[in-house]
Amino acid sequence: MKKYMKTTLGHKLLAYYLVFFAITFFAMSTLGHNYIRERVYSEAEHHLQDIGITLLSSDINQQSYTKTTIRSLYSQLLIVAEATDCRILIVCDDGDIVMDTGEKKPNYNVYTKNASFLHQQFNRDTTMEGYLPSESMCISLPIEKSAFMNGYLLITQSNTYIDIRATYYSNILSFFFYLMIFLVGIVFLLIYIFNVRPLHQLRNGAKDFSIAHDNPPIIIHSNDEYGELAQTLNVIGAELSKFDEYQRKFISNISHDFRSPLTNIRGYVQAMTDGIIPAENQEKYLNIILYETERLTKLSSDLLDVNKYDKDHIMLDITDFDIHDTIQKTCEILESSTKEKQIQIDFVPVTSSPLFVSADHDKIEQVLHNLLDNAIKFSSNEAHITVVTWIHHERVYISVKDKGIGIPKEELPQIWDRFYKTDLSRGKDKLGSGLGLSICREIINAHKQTIDVVSTVGVGSEFTFTLPKA
Ligand code: ADP
Repeated sequence: MKKYMKTTLGHKLLAYYLVFFAITFFAMSTLGHNYIRERVYSEAEHHLQDIGITLLSSDINQQSYTKTTIRSLYSQLLIVAEATDCRILIVCDDGDIVMDTGEKKPNYNVYTKNASFLHQQFNRDTTMEGYLPSESMCISLPIEKSAFMNGYLLITQSNTYIDIRATYYSNILSFFFYLMIFLVGIVFLLIYIFNVRPLHQLRNGAKDFSIAHDNPPIIIHSNDEYGELAQTLNVIGAELSKFDEYQRKFISNISHDFRSPLTNIRGYVQAMTDGIIPAENQEKYLNIILYETERLTKLSSDLLDVNKYDKDHIMLDITDFDIHDTIQKTCEILESSTKEKQIQIDFVPVTSSPLFVSADHDKIEQVLHNLLDNAIKFSSNEAHITVVTWIHHERVYISVKDKGIGIPKEELPQIWDRFYKTDLSRGKDKLGSGLGLSICREIINAHKQTIDVVSTVGVGSEFTFTLPKA
């Protein structure tokens, strides 16, 4: 299998930065420096040209100088040359250099060499065919107006001098380039610190949550999207951790509830097959075995119900039905239990006529069955249980009230939890799984209705739920 190198956002940022650096460095070192050199040279050309034009518009061009008298201008031109860092030469039309503010070469005639530079106004990188000591820029302007002398005014400036200026500007450009690279580097660093680092923390936190759900929370001190994401992940982590805890409890409860009846059944059957229990006592133990199998049957059917209602959306089959009729039928179904304990169920309907509600008939029947079953279980013999209905704000209220053992105040919130049984009730009910009320609440919630309890220890309990009136 191919192994791909892992690329992180930090690597990508570094790569972007290096690409940016390479491009700008290339642009600066080639295009930037060439541009500066070109600008400095063309400025120098214009500068020399301006000096030349100014000189030509003065004495040189207008007065009646001759080849020999023009030398009298030397001191004036020398001042101009020194002030402008130039070298000024006058070449006669016969090729003789009659005046030079620099070090004049004696008996030099430009026509003995290639004198093309005389006829070009702008010359770059020229030594005037070896006359100048180093490559220079040279401007050539014709002297034409003088009546007695024709020739050329040459103004030159050494390349070395121009290059010093070009290097000066290049250095300024380089300084701004490195400053920009430094600032952009800081921007990338800030992007890394404020964006990539929190992302790393979030990724590591999320990874840890995926391995174990009870990890310490991810801490990001910021109010932006990263902070919010961290909080959301922490909430998810906490929920997962709660879910783990719930799952552990759920499994341990189920195993415990299954193990004790199975141990009993196994023990008695083993004793019978071993002949330890005499034949005349066997009926008693067979009844215990029957009782334990009932417990197991109830537990498995409750578990199936819980599983059915465990999903977010319970599928409801909503119809309009008479709740009074359903209450009466449920009471009839429970008749064997009420007769056994000589308990009487008093039904007090809001009206003697049918009362239609809009709900899932079978599921509401199950709620009624669970509530009445609990009321019977936790009432003493010959007690009275009251079922009352009333209407308020287009809702039908159904209450099941007993005068049984009651529920301690501090345990009231827990009775809706799965497998929860109050300490008080354990002696009275060995068959219960602690799942009935949680099923009731799931069903009523699915109808978007409410179910509540009011209870006092030793006085009794009243469970009330609502249904929408049809
Ligand atoms: P079960 O299916 O075992 O009856 P439930 O979920 O219906 O479990 O009830 C949970 C616990 O709530 C019961 O074990 C009991 O402790 C308490 N309880 C429920 N109904 C009553 C009641 N009418 N009177 C007293 N305690 C009750």
